[in-house]
Amino acid sequence: MVCARKKITLGTKEWASSNINLISGCSHDCRYCYARKMAIRFKRKTEESWKIMELNKKKLFQNFKKRKGRVMFPTSHDITPEFKEECFLVLKKLLDAGNSVLITSKPHFYVIKELCCNFENFKDLIQFRFTITSLNNNILSFWEPGAPSFEERLQSLKFANSIKYKTSVSIEPFLDKDPIPLVKKLYPYVSETIWIGKMNYLKGKYNSIEELDFYNEIRENCTVENIQRIIYQLRRYKKIRYKDSIKRLDIEIPSIQAPILKFSR
Ligand code: SF4
Repeated sequence: MVCARKKITLGTKEWASSNINLISGCSHDCRYCYARKMAIRFKRKTEESWKIMELNKKKLFQNFKKRKGRVMFPTSHDITPEFKEECFLVLKKLLDAGNSVLITSKPHFYVIKELCCNFENFKDLIQFRFTITSLNNNILSFWEPGAPSFEERLQSLKFANSIKYKTSVSIEPFLDKDPIPLVKKLYPYVSETIWIGKMNYLKGKYNSIEELDFYNEIRENCTVENIQRIIYQLRRYKKIRYKDSIKRLDIEIPSIQAPILKFSR
């Protein structure tokens, strides 16, 4: 066992050396989105206008060189049907330059299917990281109102995995009190890693009792006791990793996760 507090890399730096975005705003409109929070705080967007996606044409026409380390694309919007062509164009330029790219998305199936077909020749440079935070569509539609359903995200993961792309998953923030059934469902289709993190900030004002209930559930999910239980139960799952939001807690995380568990599809 090792103390997980010793060396913590924060935020997207945990996953990549640099990132690229070409759109301001995101129609997925997740309530916990850090980019949304910052855009509203610095008056680049309002609560209403965040979901209206605006293309940064300068970025669209920019050329990219080979960068040091992996590039994460995108980080402050998603690859939505509305802007798939523009996202594909930027992705192509990144890959043509020889960059290794971590594609992060709450995936829309037909966008991912097209992306996989178009970029077949760059398979070695691509790793998908699909954000799938709950099995429950009622929970997903509250927290991530504009994002695809659980089934569509799972379908995207299965598809990418079936044609031998590198696949990984982010369960950050985990929205189910017990995310282990979700982990078990996704595990067979993940070739790389599954990252688990907790919600980083919770607002103090609510518009309805229903809204308050959702926030209270998240507070219960994020107790040290619950997270300790999750870590213990997942101790033998080789592909599991924990995000900085969990590493910062005073919880010991097993460094050796053996034996390897086998799953049938
Ligand atoms: S999909 Fe990502 S960028 Fe878009 S609103 Fe949700 S958290 Fe923010």
